[in-house]
Amino acid sequence: MHEVSLMQNLLRMVGIAASKQGDSPVTEIHLRIGKMAGVNRESLKFSFDILAKGTIAENAILVIEDVPFNIHCSDCGSDFNPDDFTLRCPECEGTSIEITSGREMEIDYILVDDESDSPESRDKMENTGG
Ligand SMILES: [Zn+2]
Repeated sequence: MHEVSLMQNLLRMVGIAASKQGDSPVTEIHLRIGKMAGVNRESLKFSFDILAKGTIAENAILVIEDVPFNIHCSDCGSDFNPDDFTLRCPECEGTSIEITSGREMEIDYILVDDESDSPESRDKMENTGG
C-alpha cells in the first residue's frame, strides 16, 4: 500500500514546514489530491492515523480536497472533465491530450497552533506515483 510511503513523505514535509514556524503543533493539514492521482483516500487517512502518532502533527486534522480530472485537446481545443481516465478526446477522438489537472498530490497548506504571524505555509510535493 503506497499510501503509507506517501504519508511518510508528507509528514516529513509537514515537519519541515512546522519547524519553520517555530515547531508549533500542527492543527490542520490540507491536501489536494487529484481524482486520477491513484491515491486511496481511506488508506491515506488510515496511514496518517498511525504515522502521525508521536510527531508534531499528532493531533492535526487531515483535510483532503479532491481535484477534478481535466483534459485539454490540442487538436480541437476542447476541454473536458471525464469521469474515467482517458487519453482520447471525447469530441474528435484525437490523442493530443494534455492533462491539465487531476494528478496532483500536494500539500495545499498547513495550520499550526501559533497565534502570532501568518499560520500558513505552502509546500508542493512531487507526484512520484506511477
Ligand atoms: Zn479534440
